[in-house]
Amino acid sequence: MKILITGGSRGIGKAIVELFAKEGHDVVFLYRSSDKAAEELCCATGARAVRCDVSISADTTKAVKATIDMLGGIDVLINNAGISSFGFFDTITDDEWRKMIDTNLSGAFYVTREVAKVMIAQKSGRIINVGSMWGKVGAACEVHYSASKAGLRGMTRALAKELGPCGITVNCIEPGVIDTEMNAHLSDEDVSALCDDTPLGRIGSPEEVAHLAYFLSSDKASFITGQTIGIDGGFAI
Ligand code: NAP
Repeated sequence: MKILITGGSRGIGKAIVELFAKEGHDVVFLYRSSDKAAEELCCATGARAVRCDVSISADTTKAVKATIDMLGGIDVLINNAGISSFGFFDTITDDEWRKMIDTNLSGAFYVTREVAKVMIAQKSGRIINVGSMWGKVGAACEVHYSASKAGLRGMTRALAKELGPCGITVNCIEPGVIDTEMNAHLSDEDVSALCDDTPLGRIGSPEEVAHLAYFLSSDKASFITGQTIGIDGGFAI
């Protein structure tokens, strides 16, 4: 399969790149600025990388075109690129709000809009959006993050209806607390408290999320669309 993953240089996206490449698929990933990490991942996996800020529409158009030139098509799109930040609701600036929505929600829209043209023409495709459990239950001091991820839930369901007749499935993965740099700011006490609130008593690994993305892109998931699937150890039940 030909796979495009956004935000593939680090964390969950990197684990997804590694898994698909290990299973013999042709992978291109987008990243924002981590040139060294991207280069190392390409060397280690055989994947190819395109530097692209998904929050800039014109950049995504160029990046998707470059991807199609490299792969000759796209069977699976995984919208994983994302940022997070924290602050009381009334301290979030206009710029912080815009950057969050532009990256986490508009970025997925821009990339999907370009990729869907290819998938519609080929009458098949899998689109997987990486949301967050906070898009389901909401997180205090992460209102802009929670709103961006809740938006992905709605986009997933609407797109599943619109693209289903073209043979394209659209699903959303909602991770809980996963061990990546996104959570590097958490203290040991914070992590311990989050584990206490998780029925399975631990945080998750990027590899566990990668396996769910892999399943949703496989033939075994051919009748699943419009779904939002939590992978959070039971945190958001
Ligand atoms: P991460 O370790 O911080 O990695 C983020 C990735 O996204 C990097 O590859 C980064 O590229 C890329 N990225 C960020 N902004 C971008 C932009 N504007 N354009 C292109 N690429 C961009 O984060 P992560 O923990 O792996 O998170 C991956 C996804 O899972 C995110 O959507 C996040 O919201 C979601 N998620 C994470 C958790 C968690 O606990 N970690 C939980 C729920 C959901 P650079 O390396 O170039 O910066």
